[in-house]
Amino acid sequence: MGRSSKDKRDIYYRLAKEEGWRARSAFKLLQLDQEFNLFTGVRRAVDLCAAPGSWSQVLSRKLRASEDKKGETRNEEGNEEVKKEEERKEEVKIVAVDLQAMAPLPGVTQIQGDITKVSTAQEIVRHFSGQPADLVVCDGAPDVTGLHDVDEYIQAQLLLAALNITTHVLKPGGTFVAKIFRGKDVTLLYSQLRVFFSQVTCAKPRSSRNSSIEAFVVCLNYSPPEGYVPNMSNPLLDHSYDVDFNQLEGPNRIIVPFLACGDLSAYDSDQTYPLQLDTSQEYRYTPPTQPPIKPPYQQACLLRRNNLLAKEDSLPLAQEVSLQLAHE
Ligand code: SAM
Repeated sequence: MGRSSKDKRDIYYRLAKEEGWRARSAFKLLQLDQEFNLFTGVRRAVDLCAAPGSWSQVLSRKLRASEDKKGETRNEEGNEEVKKEEERKEEVKIVAVDLQAMAPLPGVTQIQGDITKVSTAQEIVRHFSGQPADLVVCDGAPDVTGLHDVDEYIQAQLLLAALNITTHVLKPGGTFVAKIFRGKDVTLLYSQLRVFFSQVTCAKPRSSRNSSIEAFVVCLNYSPPEGYVPNMSNPLLDHSYDVDFNQLEGPNRIIVPFLACGDLSAYDSDQTYPLQLDTSQEYRYTPPTQPPIKPPYQQACLLRRNNLLAKEDSLPLAQEVSLQLAHE
């Protein structure tokens, strides 16, 4: 889409740009919070699979909200209040983990790492000075292949990896929120989550397209089985189940409540709406809030721009461009 054309993408995509969110997914976490009050009393939060960082932005803005009121407080109640606010803000620690680098955000420490690694869990705990987290969120998604079964399977693996690392860092009673694909084996995932959390709900924010099988599990009150020792092994990979979990009945089958969330007057992400901008002014393109840092497609874009893509005779030049990029 050219920069000069009006943005025709979905309403949440456009709102995200207008409101300065790095991605439209910010609205999903905001709408989950509307329903579950996720942020009340949270001082230590972890954002797994965080890049480009819209969920970390939400955490940063919500948990450190008093920062915005700093000026007001100074006028009304003097320096003592400001100091207390500053101390409170200092207490809030947010760690964002992703394989990819992410542009910095206020109050957010980044770990460029893999959530399947124990070393990443250790680094998170180190950042919290040995204290456990109050909240872990994960909007992780593998690169989709378009083969639904494969995509569902890989997403399930990522969710289990997120659960595993969460068991290393979350405090008893803490909250875990993660993206889930409601595929055919979702019952198995619910069962596994219920082993660790007393309340598991599957929630669908208004900003998550109805046409997508994506939803979010909101798991409250972390209470691992007695004697459970956190590890990074993956129950789906490590055991061969010969049970069809969808055939389970009665107490063996865990039915997780399903909840639509976000204010029901909110925009439906499958509908098309005009963006209600000031019509007296000419439309001006709003660039993305934070373009990705060195995205994997950067090289291909540059080659295409220079008409060097997939042309044998231009191979040496293409290699030169690639080398230049690698050194930037
Ligand atoms: N929540 C983010 C936001 O609001 O900006 C969007 C997350 S994006 C949909 C999914 C991210 O998962 C990608 O940035 C990808 O690098 C990350 N990811 C996938 N597998 C991962 C892994 N094993 N460890 C860490 N990050 C991973």
